[in-house]
Amino acid sequence: MATLTCPECGHKQDEKIPTNSCMPFYLCSQCKKTIAAKKEDCCVFCSYGDEKCPLKKN
Ligand SMILES: [Zn+2]
Repeated sequence: MATLTCPECGHKQDEKIPTNSCMPFYLCSQCKKTIAAKKEDCCVFCSYGDEKCPLKKN
């Protein structure tokens, strides 16, 4: 699990990190916006999470 911080409203939510794919979008449960990863990052965990995705760790 990693904690994602919404860039729109600052809400923190826990999300499971997929082990074999990237997650380029997630839905914020507070502001209901679809949050996309920054363009230089492959997934939202790299952009807004407290942990990088497993593909970047390896
Ligand atoms: Zn939000």
